[in-house]
Amino acid sequence: MEYEVIVGLEVHAELSTATKIYCSCKNSFGSEVNSNCCPICTGMPGTLPSLNKKVVEYAVKMGHALNCKINNVCKMDRKNYFYPDLPKAYQISQFDIPLCENGYVDIILDESGATKRIGVTRIHIEEDAGKLLHDDSFAGSLVDFNRCGVPLIEIVSEPDMRGSKEAKAYLDSIKAILQYIDISDCKMQEGSIRCDINVSVRPVGSDVFGTRVEMKNVNTFSGAVRAIEYEAKRQIEVIENGGTISQETRRWDDLQGQNFLLRSKEDAHDYRYFPEPDLLTIHVPEEEVDAIKKSIPELPNAKILRYMHDYKLPHYDSNLLAENMEKSAFFEQCIEFNKVQPKNISNWILGDISRIFNEKNISFADTKITAKNLVDMIEMVEKSEISNTGAKTVLEEIMFNDISARQVVEEKGLAQISDNSALEALVKEVLASNEKAVNDYKNGKTNVVGFLVGQCMRASKGKGNPAILKEIVVSMIESM
Ligand SMILES: [Zn+2]
Repeated sequence: MEYEVIVGLEVHAELSTATKIYCSCKNSFGSEVNSNCCPICTGMPGTLPSLNKKVVEYAVKMGHALNCKINNVCKMDRKNYFYPDLPKAYQISQFDIPLCENGYVDIILDESGATKRIGVTRIHIEEDAGKLLHDDSFAGSLVDFNRCGVPLIEIVSEPDMRGSKEAKAYLDSIKAILQYIDISDCKMQEGSIRCDINVSVRPVGSDVFGTRVEMKNVNTFSGAVRAIEYEAKRQIEVIENGGTISQETRRWDDLQGQNFLLRSKEDAHDYRYFPEPDLLTIHVPEEEVDAIKKSIPELPNAKILRYMHDYKLPHYDSNLLAENMEKSAFFEQCIEFNKVQPKNISNWILGDISRIFNEKNISFADTKITAKNLVDMIEMVEKSEISNTGAKTVLEEIMFNDISARQVVEEKGLAQISDNSALEALVKEVLASNEKAVNDYKNGKTNVVGFLVGQCMRASKGKGNPAILKEIVVSMIESM
């Protein structure tokens, strides 16, 4: 039997606010253990939290970016559970009225630019917990409270994804959006984005969902792909062997490449949610909701599709340009001159310019390159005024000096010779001193023409136009 794999995701993203969600402790990663904490975030009795306004703003921003309805009036709720890294023994989160709900994101499925709409059930704000440190030299575990109270948004999707590929495309989209609207540093290695994954399977054609299994805290996207594929295979095996799937939470171990039963699934009532009595109701005025909406730039997937459609760029180029705001902004400045092929602009930005950026660990801000200079240079290549090799020399100069592309070509004598009479004289000499190659050509070994054009290029010190040289070489030998 063929099965369909159904995936729903809960993405937790740490917000890059300066301070924590309910106190003024610094929100930063990598500080000395237990140095960014105070009586509030360590849950001392009698302390009072106060909500960081920036957290609400950032979450509303994400709500708009994911096309959600924003609940102008909402509240915080207390979710009760005990864990050693949670000193209050409750987490202040949102239960029945999230800040944002009923949204969606359009993910790009393949090279053709086909999209699929994935529903976003809700986005709510909450606090992160601390971190347990397990040290072998010590008989027990230690706890670092620095992460207690770090602001999080939890983005809950509908079970709209089919298989690991769509899940990966969704995660990539969410990450790109978080970076575009600049509300999370998205550093996976620091745990800034983690996801809980819900997986179920059902026979193809069925419209009833199977029982879902949840895997908690997967902290890489490639790990998420492996976890989904493993869990789907496990469920199918259980069903094929006549068993049934039970609703449970499993722990994914990426090193071992398998998951383990953690606990049978808890329900909301196990947490005894109730409205947080220490915090006021949240009111976000409509004007503020609108103002935040206006601050949102064009989002990455829309940009990718626009590049593919308007400029006929391949999906690969569009994706690489769109994922970097500086590169896409520069690309668009070049496009505005409307003088050269968009694909050529993309090739230079993603090719030599990116290579130089990587080698020197720099970006546009560290260079002197202007869109006009790059476009002028590309135009000269397109018109065969300079060769590709010559253009590379021009690029190095215009990237780091106050000089125009044309000036470089003049000063370095890079202009290609396209004047036929000058080239004919040069070809004549080359043919005279390469008799053997000429005879080979006459005897049918026509691929020797590449060698002869190469000799001509060398004689012209790289300034000959190779296309014209080839024409002259061929016509001269044939008329001999
Ligand atoms: Zn604190």
